[in-house]
Amino acid sequence: MSDQINKQTLSEEDYLRKHLESIENKNASNEPSFQQPKINVQVDNSRTADLQYFAFDVREFPCGIFYPAGSTIQVRPAQVKEIQAYSMVDDNNFYDIVEKMNDMLAACVRIKYLDGSMGSYLDIKDPDRFYLIFLIRELTFQQGTALTTTTTCTCSSELSIELKRENFKKYDLPEKIAKYFDPQSLSFRFSVKSGKTFNLAPPTIGLQKSFTDYIVKENNEKKKQNLSFLKIIPFLLYDRNSITIEGIKAKLLEYEKMDDISFQFLNSAVNKMTFGIEKLKKNCSVCGLEVHTDMIFPDGPSALFVVHDAFEQFIEE
Ligand SMILES: [Zn+2]
Repeated sequence: MSDQINKQTLSEEDYLRKHLESIENKNASNEPSFQQPKINVQVDNSRTADLQYFAFDVREFPCGIFYPAGSTIQVRPAQVKEIQAYSMVDDNNFYDIVEKMNDMLAACVRIKYLDGSMGSYLDIKDPDRFYLIFLIRELTFQQGTALTTTTTCTCSSELSIELKRENFKKYDLPEKIAKYFDPQSLSFRFSVKSGKTFNLAPPTIGLQKSFTDYIVKENNEKKKQNLSFLKIIPFLLYDRNSITIEGIKAKLLEYEKMDDISFQFLNSAVNKMTFGIEKLKKNCSVCGLEVHTDMIFPDGPSALFVVHDAFEQFIEE
């Protein structure tokens, strides 16, 4: 397995932005807190009869505020055939990792809206992807099989941190943009001095899937990609879960004709929108201080659903 990928920071950016960042070498920073809508959601975390789905309040997720209030995300453990397919992921191929994760999410995740209607994983916000993958993992391996990473506290004790929900520190919403959140549209609504108004929010997995298809197609045709377009536009199309190749091309033409103020503003606004899992946190058992460490895949993404020491664990001596 590649060391480079093993140590790769799981910054929980959506994969497209992550891909672009590796090119741009951008450095995003984030702070403050979410404004969650106050609504009482009935969440049933017991096993439900149909296909063993567990229901989770959307507010638990890093992108919680961007789902209609009262929705629940329903998740079930992975079945062996899904684990078999996932275990073949190529840790060195970013698109393969994304595709295998999508297959896993397609099988195990759906969203239920307050009116009773259901949506698929395509409606899920892209920065919630890793959180969901780890959640599926938790449900699948309820009898332990912990995935851990180690770090050292300032008191110099060694600390082992399990990669599970209670140890995840989500990105906070920067105060600067928090006040522009519009609960009606579930997006940030910005009025710019040029007189224009923009609504921006994290894109869905479905929309990013459309963009990935587009990127792969353009790459195959050896076309040069407009990276700034690919970074910014998904945030403007936050309220849909697909777009055709022709649709993307039309957006690109619009984008290239954009005025300078709009571009500068959008670029700066999108730089402030980092969501998902920021890092791991745990209180030191010796000194009690909260210790943070980078979010990583300890043995690469392929190891997420593979029991690390299965041979030793399951052999009959
Ligand atoms: Zn300590």
